[in-house]
Amino acid sequence: MEVLETRAALRSWRAKVHGAVGFVPTMGALHEGHLSLVRQSLADNPWTIVSIFVNPRQFGPNEDYHRYPRTLETDLRLLRNLGVSAVFVPSEEEMYSLEDEVYITLTRLSRLWCGGYRLGHFDGVVLVLTKLFHLTAPTRAYFGEKDFQQLRIVEKMVEELFFPIEVVRVPTVREPDGLAMSSRNTYLSPRGRAQAVALYKTLQYIQTLVPTCPLAQDLLAEGRAYLSENYPEIKLEYLAIVDEYSLQPIEHLRQSLKLRALIAAYVEGVRLIDNIPLVVPDESS
Ligand code: AMP
Repeated sequence: MEVLETRAALRSWRAKVHGAVGFVPTMGALHEGHLSLVRQSLADNPWTIVSIFVNPRQFGPNEDYHRYPRTLETDLRLLRNLGVSAVFVPSEEEMYSLEDEVYITLTRLSRLWCGGYRLGHFDGVVLVLTKLFHLTAPTRAYFGEKDFQQLRIVEKMVEELFFPIEVVRVPTVREPDGLAMSSRNTYLSPRGRAQAVALYKTLQYIQTLVPTCPLAQDLLAEGRAYLSENYPEIKLEYLAIVDEYSLQPIEHLRQSLKLRALIAAYVEGVRLIDNIPLVVPDESS
């Protein structure tokens, strides 16, 4: 496994590999969620490259950029054991300069949900991915459904900016109790960790009500009540039922729509997100 620290080293690695290249961008502190993306890429492509870069541009001034977990040695060992071809671990200076001016903004998708609370977050994501896509020139790029809004934004930017890249969706990997794996789960105390399953439980609760309740606003009210009754210490940021493509909220659930339920909430001051596809039963059955 080659460990590449500079753009020049990455470009020369890229120039010498032929055949399909799978790319898995990450911020490190790798867990089974990340590794499932890597395994999918290894299965699909003769070459797999992973990037590990805690991207300062996607963190707000009061967010956790400085305390974000950094576990490079362990990450490299995990990737080497899986059989990854190369890892790109650039410094901040390698990716950005103080004179930089370019940002790319999505006018709708970036402003909804997480984008409304983490101002500029998705602009930072799109910027770093544009740079990384140019440098790695992958055939396929792998993204987790765990960050569903990010996934839709990546699909849209690839489509509109004509990147010749296939975006591959990978399902969310969960802990045995249902909590979506996340590098930020490590911030939680054992008590907070036990409570964090509330996000998934709320989404599941909404799913159980879908067959009897076709109105999104009623489902969301039930979901909010479930959360506050069972997990009073958790601070809800948003709970939404959206069209999977546009991420716009919907009012009436119909089987013909592809729907997602999205949630963001604070557990012990740690911001966590989750989502599930909502299945609407066949109206005729
Ligand atoms: P991050 O390191 O948080 O930027 O995540 C890198 C990639 O891993 C993104 O495409 C995430 O959506 C994906 N990812 C993170 N957690 C999970 C998970 N629990 N299941 C599946 N994919 C995940």
